[in-house]
Amino acid sequence: MTFLLLRTTLAMLIAFGGGTLGIVLGKVAPHRLNLLVYAAMGALLAVTAFDILPDAKALLPWPLFLAAVGSGYALFWAVGKYVYHICPACSISAFDQATTERLGQSVLLLMIALSLHSAMDGIAVVVGDKITGHPNLAVLFAVSFHKLPEGLALSLLLLGAGYKPRAALLWTFAIESATEVGALIGVLGLQRVSLLHLGMIFAHVGGGFVYLIVTTLGLFTQPLGRRFAPRKVLPFAASSGLAFTLTAGLMLLLHRYGP
Ligand SMILES: [Zn+2]
Repeated sequence: MTFLLLRTTLAMLIAFGGGTLGIVLGKVAPHRLNLLVYAAMGALLAVTAFDILPDAKALLPWPLFLAAVGSGYALFWAVGKYVYHICPACSISAFDQATTERLGQSVLLLMIALSLHSAMDGIAVVVGDKITGHPNLAVLFAVSFHKLPEGLALSLLLLGAGYKPRAALLWTFAIESATEVGALIGVLGLQRVSLLHLGMIFAHVGGGFVYLIVTTLGLFTQPLGRRFAPRKVLPFAASSGLAFTLTAGLMLLLHRYGP
């Protein structure tokens, strides 16, 4: 259990690192951030498609599986629609000056939305372990990777909303700490939960990740022509494709030689 919490702490620390990077780089960061966001999405896609969803499906009949994935997707969608962007990093390209200035009033909503998201990240790592019965390094890798742009986007948003660098950094740390809270909920709250229920939670988390991937791609939110102008697409396709391939390769190796 301590080892498990150590690993979720690693994911949280990477988010802290991203937040610090955002403060240090400031205005330079957004131009590079998009590539990082797409790379993290590629890694998350590989883990969701090849690990989380298949592992959950192995424990569940189709109707339960689809219901759990759907509920995870719906939860993040509802928070994104009625509270605040559940993943500021995923939708960073949609943010402009006006959005960050408006954030002044809705910063509490951002904190709620991202805390819930971070708690889910923590739960994902814990449940991934419980289901496979050994450290699920692939899930940890993908979650940690995506924590970097997540923390970065968060501190940038807070800076843009007029927070002083110190305050922006401290708030980023506070919000990202929800990752550890989620892990603790997972470790303490899921001790005697049956495999069937663990499978449902894993599928639920996977549904949330599918939503994050979909928002990163801007499907349903951006006009296709604008989003997929060929000149722009290539670098993003390359970075997400590379991260996807690397993660899938890592998972194959772990599957064969790992714990
Ligand atoms: Zn996250």
